[in-house]
Amino acid sequence: MRICFFCKSPTGIHLKEHRLSLCPTCYPSWVEDQVAKTIKRFKMFVPQEKILLAVSGGKDSLSLWQILTRLGYVVHAFYISLGIKEENYSDISKEKCLIMAQKLSLPLHIVDLQKESGYNLNQVSKAYYKTCSACGVIKRYFMNQITLKENYSVVATGHNLDDEVSTLFGNVLRWDETYLNRQYPVIPPKAGLAKKVKPLIFLSEKQVALYALTSEIDYIRHECPYSTHASSLRYKENLHQLESYNAGTLRFFLTNFLNFRKKQIKEQEEKKEIKEVALYLCSSCQQLSTSKMCKYCSIMQKVAQRAKKNGG
Ligand code: SF4
Ligand code: ZN
Repeated sequence: MRICFFCKSPTGIHLKEHRLSLCPTCYPSWVEDQVAKTIKRFKMFVPQEKILLAVSGGKDSLSLWQILTRLGYVVHAFYISLGIKEENYSDISKEKCLIMAQKLSLPLHIVDLQKESGYNLNQVSKAYYKTCSACGVIKRYFMNQITLKENYSVVATGHNLDDEVSTLFGNVLRWDETYLNRQYPVIPPKAGLAKKVKPLIFLSEKQVALYALTSEIDYIRHECPYSTHASSLRYKENLHQLESYNAGTLRFFLTNFLNFRKKQIKEQEEKKEIKEVALYLCSSCQQLSTSKMCKYCSIMQKVAQRAKKNGG
């Protein structure tokens, strides 16, 4: 029989990759401690900073909201209602975020895509076949807008180990040097944009799900209907298989990559090689962008053109 490393009571939770057994009562504190260590290791933020967390109603972002609050940070959240009608996805996910905001007594900013742009994600997906990448652009756009308006200095997201490794795996498969050279759990602030951080990157999807379960977090159980098309899902299936053969593979892969990136960043800083990207004011919305018209406005222009062609 396995016993909890901390309180010695019998336990069913065994973390193979850490060679550690914990009981459901001690498990949440262990997770919170892991997150605290990640924040410290990457110097992500300090309690005095104004932090905004992107929440989706899923287990990762809602768990992170609770973890950061328990660690003593005051974190406001941001939710974007994409208007996904299938399985009432947007309505249910918004409800879960509101429940958590109430539980923590913390502010939640809500943006409604339909109200802001006149279109919902279902319409976007008909005009723009890469729904997930369009969705990412939309989320970042409104997130940047609220960050600027409300003066947040840090934006946190709930990406977990599996998310981060599948992104890394995809970048390696395509040997996409631009993305590989950008991947890091802390992206420093640049003109008008807040610092971006990912405090959950060393916790696997399963570990976060277990945290949500042992901490009684109410989150949306079904996946976004568009996620079935995402290549990250296929990468994750393969990565999970590798992890099942050899526990700790994902963590090892990410840790070694981050060690390499840390060295690379240091060298670039020493040689002053980190180049500032040219920024423009978007010709349509006036938000800062790396092109003359921002990605959000070009996507929405396409969506509007398609709607016009189809009569509204
Ligand atoms: Fe957006 Fe794709 Fe995530 Fe759905 S799965 S919320 S479409 S990024
Ligand atoms: Zn724009």
